[in-house]
Amino acid sequence: MQLYDLHTHTNMSDADFSIEDLVEVEHEQGHILGVSDHLFCCGIYTLREVNAYLDVLCQYSVYRGAEVNMEHRFNLPDELDDRLDYVIASVHSMPDGRGGFVPLNDYFRKRSGYSERYEKNYSSDMNRYYLAYIIQMMEKTFSTQRVDILGHSTVLPCYDELYGTKFLEQWEDMVIGLCKKYQVAIEISGLWHAPGIDMLRKAKGAGIKFSMGSDCHRHLQIGDLSYAERAAEELGLQEDDFFHPRRVLQLDF
Ligand SMILES: [Zn+2]
Ligand SMILES: [Zn+2]
Repeated sequence: MQLYDLHTHTNMSDADFSIEDLVEVEHEQGHILGVSDHLFCCGIYTLREVNAYLDVLCQYSVYRGAEVNMEHRFNLPDELDDRLDYVIASVHSMPDGRGGFVPLNDYFRKRSGYSERYEKNYSSDMNRYYLAYIIQMMEKTFSTQRVDILGHSTVLPCYDELYGTKFLEQWEDMVIGLCKKYQVAIEISGLWHAPGIDMLRKAKGAGIKFSMGSDCHRHLQIGDLSYAERAAEELGLQEDDFFHPRRVLQLDF
């Protein structure tokens, strides 16, 4: 099966390598590549900067993607949106239901092994509320904005803490239901080793499309899809089970 790495970053947002390095390594690995830098944070803030980012991607044989924060509105004007091959929406902070958000930067840094330091900044008593608000946010986002792929959907501290409960199983079913309803693919993440195989199996049963992404920010993480490959093999996923951008790429490697 041809592997697509559709979730990648560069030093245009918060990775520590250039697009040249990314393209070179991914193409050596034989991957079809999509670049999905963060929009509206981490270096690309304005529409002019989004346009400049897309101009850079046009110089390579890569899909032109973006990762956006689900917590914010991210609709682009048509002339920019038309140039994007896909949009990944991810949750990067937990809604507290009162209009505020609990940032997850430290959790992400700890979980991906960047730092040992981690100060818990939320209340475990609120875990079910966070997850319920995230469902509401997903539905609102999917129904009002363009989303092709749901990024690292289960990488949340409240998810970890409720793992194994009936509540969490039902939450997973709701996420799958929303992805089904709005035709959003579920990402299998190389960096985060998530979602787990049980949720992916349910998603497959529901006829959901999948997407693979390394979510690389460090050079060594480029193109690391080993978790996604193992999951795909275990579930017997075929090319057809995956979301692929529509545009035909000219491959020059
Ligand atoms: Zn992300
Ligand atoms: Zn990312």
